[in-house]
Amino acid sequence: MKVAVTGGAGFIGSHLVERLLEAGHTVWTLDDFSTGRPEFLSHLQANKRHTLIQGSVTDRRTLKKLMDRVDVVFHLAAVLGVKNTVEDPLKVIEGNIDGTRNVLELAYPRHTKVIFSSTSEIYGKNKVLPFHEMSDRFYGAPSVHRWCYATAKSLDEHMCFAYAAKGLPVTVLRYFNAYGPRQTNSQYGGVVARFIKAALKGEPLEVYGDGAQTRCFTYVDDTVNGTLAALHEKANGLAFNIGSNCPITIWELAQLIIRLSGSTSPILLKSYAEAYGSGYEDMPGREPDLTRSESLLGYKPSVNLEEGLHKTIEWYRNRL
Ligand code: UDP
Repeated sequence: MKVAVTGGAGFIGSHLVERLLEAGHTVWTLDDFSTGRPEFLSHLQANKRHTLIQGSVTDRRTLKKLMDRVDVVFHLAAVLGVKNTVEDPLKVIEGNIDGTRNVLELAYPRHTKVIFSSTSEIYGKNKVLPFHEMSDRFYGAPSVHRWCYATAKSLDEHMCFAYAAKGLPVTVLRYFNAYGPRQTNSQYGGVVARFIKAALKGEPLEVYGDGAQTRCFTYVDDTVNGTLAALHEKANGLAFNIGSNCPITIWELAQLIIRLSGSTSPILLKSYAEAYGSGYEDMPGREPDLTRSESLLGYKPSVNLEEGLHKTIEWYRNRL
C-alpha cells in the first residue's frame, strides 16, 4: 500500500514507519520536527520506498501533495504533553484541531482511510475503571487549561466520527501511556522517559502528588501492533483502546526504574502545584478495557513492563 504517516519522525511515528517499511509498504513521512527528530529515521535514508518531508499538517498545500498519493494516512502529528497543555493551551488546541480537520477534509473526496491517534486522556477524570470505548468523558471547567488537550482530542474524534457517518473509512485509536526508545525525556515528555533520564544521571526521580496514582504503561511495539491492526476493514468507524492492562502506581514505577537501571538516585515527592501550577487535577487511575480491540483486531499487548523498561533503559543509557 501507499501510506502517509503524519508525525512520522516522532516517538511512536518513527517506530510505525519502520514497521510499515518492513511490511513492504511505500511510506511518505510528514513531520515538522517540533518534537520529532530526523535522526530517528536516518537509518531508513537508503530505503527507496521511504520519503521524508519536512512540513506541518497545518500547511494544507504540503499535506495535500502527500495525501493525493496515498491509500491510507496514519495521523499521529499532535501537540501533546501535560506541560504544553498547561503552559500553552492555544498551541495545543490549534495544533490538534487544525491538523486533524485538514487530514479529514483532504481524505474525504478520495476515500482515503484515516487512522487517527487519539489518547486515553479522552476519558478524563472518569473514576469507573477500566475504560470501555463507550465510557463517558468527564472533564473540569473550560477555564482550566488542563482540560484543553482532552477537549481538542475529543473534538478531533467527533470530526472522525462525523466523516465516518458520511462514509469515510476512519478508525480512532486511544493510546494508553506509550513508552519506549525515542520518547521525549525533557520536561515536556512522559514520566517513564523522565524517570529513566534522572535515574541514569543519578538525579532525583520526582514523583508528583502522593505517587499512588496508577497508569497502564504500554511498550511502543505493542502500541504499533495495535496501530497496524487498525488497517483492517473491521476497524472502520470505531474507536479502540490500545494499551496494556497492568496498572502500576507511579511510586512503584520509580522504584522499578531505579532497580532496573542500577541507579542510586533518590525518589522525591513534589506537589502538583509545584510541578504544573495551581489548580492541576491528575487522574487517579487509568486502565483500558481491551475487549473490543482483542475481539475485533486480535490486539493483545505482549511486552511486560520489566522487559519493556529494560529495553528502554538500555536505549537511553548510550544516549544521555
Ligand atoms: N509524573 C510524575 N513525575 C514526572 C512526570 C509525571 O510523577 O516527572 C506523574 C504524573 O503526575 C502522572 C503520571 O506520572 O500521574 C503519568 O504522567 P505522564 O505525563 O507520563 O502522562 P499522563 O498519564 O499524565 O498523561
